[in-house]
Amino acid sequence: MKAVVERLVQEHSLTKQDLISLLSCCDSATFSYLRQEATRIARQRFGFGIFLRGLIEVSSYCRNDCFYCGLRRSNRSAERYRLSDEQILRCCEDGYRAGLRTFVLQGGEDGAFTDARLERLIGSIKHLYADAAITLSLGERSVESLARLRRAGADRYLLRHEAADATLYAALHPSDMSYSNRLQTIEQLKELGFQTGVGMMVGVPHQSVESLAEDLLYISRVQPQMIGIGPFIPHRQTPFAQSQAGDVRLTLMVMAIARLLAPKALIPATTALATLSNEGVRQGVLSGANVVMPNISPLEVRGKYDIYEGKSQAYNQNIESVKRLGAELESIGYHIDLSRGDF
Ligand code: SAH
Repeated sequence: MKAVVERLVQEHSLTKQDLISLLSCCDSATFSYLRQEATRIARQRFGFGIFLRGLIEVSSYCRNDCFYCGLRRSNRSAERYRLSDEQILRCCEDGYRAGLRTFVLQGGEDGAFTDARLERLIGSIKHLYADAAITLSLGERSVESLARLRRAGADRYLLRHEAADATLYAALHPSDMSYSNRLQTIEQLKELGFQTGVGMMVGVPHQSVESLAEDLLYISRVQPQMIGIGPFIPHRQTPFAQSQAGDVRLTLMVMAIARLLAPKALIPATTALATLSNEGVRQGVLSGANVVMPNISPLEVRGKYDIYEGKSQAYNQNIESVKRLGAELESIGYHIDLSRGDF
């Protein structure tokens, strides 16, 4: 297996068969070697700095019905909320004061966030905090809509592809959601000049090692600027309520492979990883991650952006803990980098 990892490091690519062998291999020597190389490659480009992104969960309303997500429209017991522009701007104000220079507006696909409203909001944020980047993560929108948001000043867009394998995609989403539309939207984001993020969950029901290999090949082909990879965590009010959570070790392995396939990408240690493991942030960084996204949503809505079980208690994911995060990173020789951290 060492030779396979060496090939990955040298060539930044692997065949599907090699990816499958690597993902199926569970010896700890290969695991450590892979992570060691992933962190070495990340440090070559980024040093020991870890970028912060302030995550604002703007709405828990969603028109979609993804089988894995607690915000799915069929979940009648979900508590729905939507932040006002004033609330969002207050989050940015607090975040900016804490040193954050990227604001990520994430939410369900909520029709109340019209293009006109988002244009105004993006304009206000850019006017007040000209040196900050805006990342949107609002699901699929038309190319016209995305073009307007880009023109209004949004810099980046996160839209996880969720599954590069069409059969798996169909097993995770209702039939009114389309695999080809998802991938096409990602292409459009790139063409519009967004720094674009893709990604997937690890350990989601019906996912095989082959499908994970497909995801990694997709990442290698697209060379996205950002890659979000986190473990799947079941939510009680979804069809996957009885499924097991994704494996932390496999998640770290997939992150390390993604780092080696896309050496320049911005890769977060995700909230889902931190939810499953108190060590999530550090373990993520030690697998090649170089971004952490503290949650800066208003405290009163924190529990309601309930995409998976235990999320609201996620350790280390809020603005109050930026200092603690700094100490945590320092314990493994890293530090917080408060610059914008563009690709
Ligand atoms: N509506 C937006 C944002 C979705 S939330 C969009 O469609 O892009 C961001 C990510 O959380 C999703 O892309 C998904 O990969 C992840 N997610 C959703 N449910 C999850 C679960 N149960 N466990 C782990 N991650 C989950």
